[in-house]
Amino acid sequence: MRRPNILFIMSDDHAAHAISAYKSRINKTPNIDRIANEGMIFDNCFCTNSICAPSRATIISGTHTHINGVTKLNIPFDGRQPTFPKILSEGGYTTAMIGKWHLGHGGNSDPTGFDYWNVLPGQGEYFDPVMIEMGEKKKLSGYVTDIITDLSINWLENRDKSKPFMLMCHHKAPHRPWIPDKAHEDMYENEDIPEPETFNDNYENRSSAAKEAWMRVDKDLNFYDVKQQEPTGLSDAQLKSWKYQRYIKDYLRCIASIDDNVGRILDYLEDNNLYEDTVVVYTSDQGFFLGDHGWFDKRLMYEESLRMPFVMRYPRMIKPGSRSDEIVLNLDFAQTFIDFAQLDADPVMQGRSFKKIAAGENVDDWRKSMYYRYYDFPSMHNVYPHYGIRTKKYKLICYYPAGESSEEGMKPLRDIEWELFDLEKDPQEMHSVYFDEHYKDVVDKLKKELAAIKYEAKDFD
Ligand code: CA
Repeated sequence: MRRPNILFIMSDDHAAHAISAYKSRINKTPNIDRIANEGMIFDNCFCTNSICAPSRATIISGTHTHINGVTKLNIPFDGRQPTFPKILSEGGYTTAMIGKWHLGHGGNSDPTGFDYWNVLPGQGEYFDPVMIEMGEKKKLSGYVTDIITDLSINWLENRDKSKPFMLMCHHKAPHRPWIPDKAHEDMYENEDIPEPETFNDNYENRSSAAKEAWMRVDKDLNFYDVKQQEPTGLSDAQLKSWKYQRYIKDYLRCIASIDDNVGRILDYLEDNNLYEDTVVVYTSDQGFFLGDHGWFDKRLMYEESLRMPFVMRYPRMIKPGSRSDEIVLNLDFAQTFIDFAQLDADPVMQGRSFKKIAAGENVDDWRKSMYYRYYDFPSMHNVYPHYGIRTKKYKLICYYPAGESSEEGMKPLRDIEWELFDLEKDPQEMHSVYFDEHYKDVVDKLKKELAAIKYEAKDFD
């Protein structure tokens, strides 16, 4: 069988519940939906450490963050380890990485395994960004999402056409500070975006982590986030709603531009006879809180942050309109791409190809649970380190003391705290049942399973 091309589109902080294929209540994404409707929607795609650089390191290497070394946001990735682009490149693919890299620069952290790379330094800028093209800095003019798409199409146009391609088109948007382009800046101007059901969460009935996190719409969004002086004379509740509207509209405007640009690149494939022979993926490096629980940002193992959007189109194998609720992970992407390329993964990789699931086959021994661990403390959003297990029905989380902070107001955790959520009865995770005696057997069983998957992940800490 011929080897497909791979177009791997990823954005930054785009939550699944801001995609209409995932039943968004707040926006429409017709072009991302096109990939979804012509292929498969993965309803239970999760990340193993919900923060930017760690998730990217896991995606590229197919290893947990304690193995690839990028446990925290500011640790650079060591590109000497095996990665899927290197395996594809060595296996006969022409490869490119365009857009947001966010795994460090210089030394061993520049992109490796690519015939061409052109990336934003660090977070990059929304307008007139500097980009590093194969090691050389250049300032470009325009809006970052359009530029990344232009460069991607330009590379496709001029690529080595004797080989199949693998292109990573990785967007900066819709990452904070959520600056939209001119074409979308007035979108939603005369309407209110609905607030999520858990907008006024009071953080009771859970561990102290929820209460102590610094990612609240009312307290932690700053002037650069809302980009306007706060109106006077509003009650606290009205001000919180005002900030939410300022935040969420800019976030959705950034996504509207991504969606347009996804459409442009799909059109390019279609116009150039590449549409049938290309595996197209749209995903994001993790989820995001869209006012859910009164928050923005991610990090916590709660659903909105843990879940990644993942839609995949490949008409030669994937049935249009299909959907899977199997638990797949960012840890699996590397091996899945390698499998589509009909190559062998490196033995250090810890995920599993879900190509058969995409093809609609039943995989009887597929995983029934996933392992999660977040490390980044002390850091700006004051989220306690935690690890946990999620099955289709339950989630068990353990927050543990680690790290001291000198920052004012930060209170490191003194003792271990646990949470258990019954996701069927409480999908919004408003009430931990960890201390409910009806769940005693569930807790015991999940603790054993958590220890087992932690060991299996080679996390011996
Ligand atoms: Ca991110």
